[in-house]
Amino acid sequence: MFQLNMRTRRRKMVSVIMRKDHLQNHVIAKHTNPEDVKWFQFEQCSFRTKQKKYLKIHVDNKHTAL
Ligand SMILES: [Zn+2]
Repeated sequence: MFQLNMRTRRRKMVSVIMRKDHLQNHVIAKHTNPEDVKWFQFEQCSFRTKQKKYLKIHVDNKHTAL
């Protein structure tokens, strides 16, 4: 169990964040007209998201040197 916890710790942190905003996320994803959604577009690639925090996560993951 300890080894499993070590391995899934990062994934678990992400899922906690996802669960917290799951309902809001679901409403925007499924019940909002695409035309009514304010899209956040990253200029340096084709990434686009409905929620600003996911844009930040994308930039942190893909465009920020560790
Ligand atoms: Zn990108």
